[in-house]
Amino acid sequence: MAMKLALVGIGKIARDQHIPAISAGPDFELAATASRNAQVSGAEAFTDLDRLLNARSDIPAISLATPPHVRYADARRALEAGCHVMLEKPPGATLSEVHDLIGVAESKGVTLFATWHSRHAAAVAAARDWLKDRTIHKVDIQWKEDVRHWHPGQDWVWTPGGLGVFDPGINALSVLTEIFPRALHLTRAELQFPSNRDTPVAATLAFHDPGGAEVTAEFDWLHSGPPAWDIHIATDGGRAVLGQGGARLDVDGAEIAAGANAEYAGLYARFGQLIAAGASDVDLSPMRHVADAFTLGRRTNVAPFDW
Ligand code: NAP
Repeated sequence: MAMKLALVGIGKIARDQHIPAISAGPDFELAATASRNAQVSGAEAFTDLDRLLNARSDIPAISLATPPHVRYADARRALEAGCHVMLEKPPGATLSEVHDLIGVAESKGVTLFATWHSRHAAAVAAARDWLKDRTIHKVDIQWKEDVRHWHPGQDWVWTPGGLGVFDPGINALSVLTEIFPRALHLTRAELQFPSNRDTPVAATLAFHDPGGAEVTAEFDWLHSGPPAWDIHIATDGGRAVLGQGGARLDVDGAEIAAGANAEYAGLYARFGQLIAAGASDVDLSPMRHVADAFTLGRRTNVAPFDW
């Protein structure tokens, strides 16, 4: 039987992905929502999570689709109430607040799942498997999109904790940390901040690989035209492109793996499995690279950004 679940933060990603994936999947039933301004037909609506938890102690699972800088308090409150919790990416505004949540989940004996939706893109597992047996010479990440198209009017992305261009860029890092066979660490970051904003609009990164590969990334949020969400990889066994945000893998120009977008179906299936197994899954490696970019990065002021 499907487990009752409440969804918090009924905004763009809740409507685009969470609600359809919950309705289509076997594991969860959308029993209630908490959102200040929005409701979903068929689910009991509350304006905040406190009211929801007080009224609906029959709901054991909470999924948080709010922006990262407001997510921690809700996550802690839900865990303390004994609920299993699923976090949108990035799992929080700081590493420390997520470490705190890990401790609360452990002490309450409930599941905490920090999701990385791009890891569930159709060709990511194939890319990881293909790379296992190869010597990697070079990885070049090109993650470029138009913020005005993909995040229209979402001012939180420009506030501290909103991550700026790392909001999409962390998706690339979640894929990199999934497919690359070794742990990497950041050695250089150039961050471009619009002079009127608190988060970067573009970033260039370089990583150290103990295995000797050259690993770099370019993130750009002012890119016009079709987005680029591609990872180019040169190896001793050919040149791979993991493209379309992880949906397609080509090697030396030939398609190796591709598929439709089922990222959120994958996330909710995994949440169900973790709850059944009494386990948690909180991999902070993508967010650690972002935090390192903010501590190590050279900052340049660029033209002001307005919608
Ligand atoms: P959004 O639409 O701007 O926000 C989601 C909802 O959160 C809002 O509609 C709002 O609902 C609620 N909220 C609560 N406090 C808020 C605050 N201080 N500022 C703004 N909204 C607040 O954002 P989103 O695009 O869905 O992104 C939410 C999370 O999903 C982010 O972590 C993002 O990285 C991740 N994500 C987004 C996408 C995408 O394509 N947009 C894709 C994958 C993942 P109420 O006003 O009703 O409370």
